[in-house]
Amino acid sequence: MSSHMNVYYFGSGKADGDRTMKHLLGGKGANLAEMVNMGIPVPPGFTITTEVCAKYQKTQAIPADVIEDVKHNVARVEAEMHHKFGDVQNPLLFSVRSGAAASMPGMMDTVLNLGLNHAIVDAWVARQPEQSRFVYDSYRRFITMYADIVMQAGREEFEEEITVMKKARGTKFDSDLQTSDLKELVESFLKLYKKKTGEDFPQDPWEQLYAAIRAVFRSWGNPRADVYRRLNNITGLLGTAVNVQSMVFGNQNDRSATGVAFSRSPSTGANYFYGEYLVNAQGEDVVAGIRTPQQIGKELSLKWAQENNITEEERALRYPSMEEFVPDAYKQLCDIRTKLELHYKDLMDIEFTVEDGRLWMLQCRVGKRTIHAALRIAIEMVEEGLINTDEAILRVDPEQVDHLLHPSIEPTAAAHAHPLGKGLAASPGAAVGQVVFDADAALKWSEAGKKVIMVRLETSPEDLAGMHAAQGILTARGGMTSHAAVVARGMGKCCVSGCGEIHLSAGQFELGGTIIKEGDVITLDGSKGLIYAGALALHTAKLEGDFEKVLQWCRQAKRLGVRANADTPADAAKAHAFGAEGVGLCRTEHMFFEGKRIEVFREMILADDFAGREKALAKLLPIQREDFEGLFRAMKGAPVTIRLLDPPLHEFVPNELHAQEELAKKLGIPLAKVQSRVTELHELNPMLGLRGCRLGIMYPEVYNMQVRAIMEAALMVGKEGLHVRPEIMIPLVGKRSELSFTKKNAEDTIAAVLKKAGGAKVDYMLGTMIEVPRAALTADQIAEEAEFFSFGTNDLTQMGCGFSRDDAGPFLRLYGELGIYDRDPFQSLDQEGIGELVRIAVQKGRKTKPNLKVGICGEHGGDPRTIHFLHGIGLDYVSCSPYRVPVAIVAAARAAVKEKLGK
Ligand code: ADP
Ligand code: MG
Ligand code: MG
Repeated sequence: MSSHMNVYYFGSGKADGDRTMKHLLGGKGANLAEMVNMGIPVPPGFTITTEVCAKYQKTQAIPADVIEDVKHNVARVEAEMHHKFGDVQNPLLFSVRSGAAASMPGMMDTVLNLGLNHAIVDAWVARQPEQSRFVYDSYRRFITMYADIVMQAGREEFEEEITVMKKARGTKFDSDLQTSDLKELVESFLKLYKKKTGEDFPQDPWEQLYAAIRAVFRSWGNPRADVYRRLNNITGLLGTAVNVQSMVFGNQNDRSATGVAFSRSPSTGANYFYGEYLVNAQGEDVVAGIRTPQQIGKELSLKWAQENNITEEERALRYPSMEEFVPDAYKQLCDIRTKLELHYKDLMDIEFTVEDGRLWMLQCRVGKRTIHAALRIAIEMVEEGLINTDEAILRVDPEQVDHLLHPSIEPTAAAHAHPLGKGLAASPGAAVGQVVFDADAALKWSEAGKKVIMVRLETSPEDLAGMHAAQGILTARGGMTSHAAVVARGMGKCCVSGCGEIHLSAGQFELGGTIIKEGDVITLDGSKGLIYAGALALHTAKLEGDFEKVLQWCRQAKRLGVRANADTPADAAKAHAFGAEGVGLCRTEHMFFEGKRIEVFREMILADDFAGREKALAKLLPIQREDFEGLFRAMKGAPVTIRLLDPPLHEFVPNELHAQEELAKKLGIPLAKVQSRVTELHELNPMLGLRGCRLGIMYPEVYNMQVRAIMEAALMVGKEGLHVRPEIMIPLVGKRSELSFTKKNAEDTIAAVLKKAGGAKVDYMLGTMIEVPRAALTADQIAEEAEFFSFGTNDLTQMGCGFSRDDAGPFLRLYGELGIYDRDPFQSLDQEGIGELVRIAVQKGRKTKPNLKVGICGEHGGDPRTIHFLHGIGLDYVSCSPYRVPVAIVAAARAAVKEKLGK
């Protein structure tokens, strides 16, 4: 049993709740309570908690004690408002509003004017004939909302009747309809209601109230809400709260209005009051677009009229600003804007209503904003002294920083589009293009000037050129660390991977019931993992001064170093430009795929003996050396961690017959020999097979060549005056002796190179990756041999959780939905499991070597949650793809600030 109350009252200048109680009261309820406590005019009401919603989901009934609490709180509102719920002569009306802790737009709607019935309407009209238009208007709205939201009978036919009526009367707007028209509408709505629901419109206000409360609870569990939560990764909520609030009427007369506003511009962050309102309107009329909304401030109203070619005469008559129309209420709204900003110290999004000239606040929340606005607002609020730079850093969402570096779908376009399906958000950004199904087509089409999206079951190194040519990549298989995902992130290219719902067949695929053929246009959202048919509008933000300024604050605030994973000099240059403080991972094997190199490398793999391998390696040496030189130059003296060859050799040999034939011809050897070598290299479990340091132990000459290339390159670039700092990293070590063996060979090679150079010196380090669980557990022993550790958390997760990186997609998605794992452990480190291995390794390693340098180079290095965790356990640096570097800098700074502020 929880000790919380079921129902929290807000009114009489004092609320039971406050803004910290979002989890229990929902965002809307918590902020309504806060505004009441701040002395801001809010119509009184009460909030039924999310805990009650959770109970409702189990029993499908409102618990009896909650019914009692509702009755009690209705009585409190009645006493405060001097109206009585259900009273024919002096009725109190309510709005019933949903509101969860996370905003879920469009999922659950609001019922307004609840408590009206025939008797109340008739008595009201008789008592106050001057209000009859408003009373009928309210009743027809209530009937529609009740039919739509509570009875789920839809609203289209109701809207249709209004359209017919407007046509018959020759008017354009509902506000032009006469009292008699509205009365007529009420009568036809009641008939339509009966036709659609089979029941008479309920006349008992209490019955209406309970049905509306149940409808809000029910809406939490409806499939649409479920899908929304799943698509937006909203987890861990109890349910929605219900806010029952006394009505104020923006549709009462021509001194009434309703509107919405932002305390600053949510798109640019500029510090002016931006809002829209409608005279004689209610609820969501402003956003529903039934009439053209008007600006609240006069200045913006004049500007708006100018932009829309509206004469001053017409503007003043038809579209006056709120400032001119109800100046007192406007002034009060401006005061509230300031008060809320000072209190929340943030951009606020507000909803308000003016009833007969009097202002009421109906909602406030911290406003959503573009990244541009986020940066501008943070900077200006620091300048205004509202917040300090630490707080400003906490205002910047690291994920949003991504938008500055990649194109994204226009929010307005996304809001109206329905995705065909969802895969993993493997690489951020958005892309529009024509579908192609292989790398060759991707190349050909893009050379012909077309934009393409490559759709594959999964990708392999052979697809690299096609991936490069494509705008985006979509795969049916593979997780967050699949080939497609890792490569796309490195290229800064949008990718949705592991979309298991896709059915690929020759020349087409089917998704969500739609067939997409080669050449059809689709849009990918790699930041959310969504796939859309057709072309959605994209926009790309520009890197501007504001961002540089905030990044500067972040650099000063963070403790963690931020490096980049870069395999080529071009990647390294990009990383350096993004502010990387070094290369945390250079995967040498990626150097072997380009152009002619792969042939030489294959020659090495196919050699019969040591001598044959040495011959091929001698050809590779200058190529590698040149790559490393380029890398060192690009990093301008920052440390560069180079991993010796890691992947299983079979990844380098062709599997298709024609490619095997070609290779045999080039090397002048029989096809059978190529084929037998391919068969030999085949492994049942390649991820646990001949790779990493095992390769270096079986073929020491390969590692020796790489080490020699590194050292010779370092000497060469060192002569140019750069302080070169190579960090040679041996992968996949599980046992100290594996490291001792490979390290010994490396040291011998290094000594030979340096001796040959006449005793020259290079500031190098020799270390290892920690990616085998055994290595983590024996890190104290391994640290005796290693000068640094770098956590390879992709493999550590694979081996630690026992999830194959390449096969786990389908069940990990289900695991996410069922909450078995909250998040994909390949995307965000499984902190209690794999994170514990990391923690143990850091602790044991530093016991042996207190100054042991420790970093991470797995894909997790760019994940803000993981970065926060790694900051906490004392890592020295994180390394991530170049495009992720600014995100990591912001995340590292936030971790440091949160630690400092005890958050
Ligand atoms: P949403 O979650 O979609 O924003 P709300 O609960 O805020 O839904 O309701 C939508 C609109 O209904 C509000 O912006 C406001 O205009 C109107 N509304 C809600 N409650 C009341 C009320 N008590 N009096 C008058 N209008 C209300
Ligand atoms: Mg809504
Ligand atoms: Mg609202």
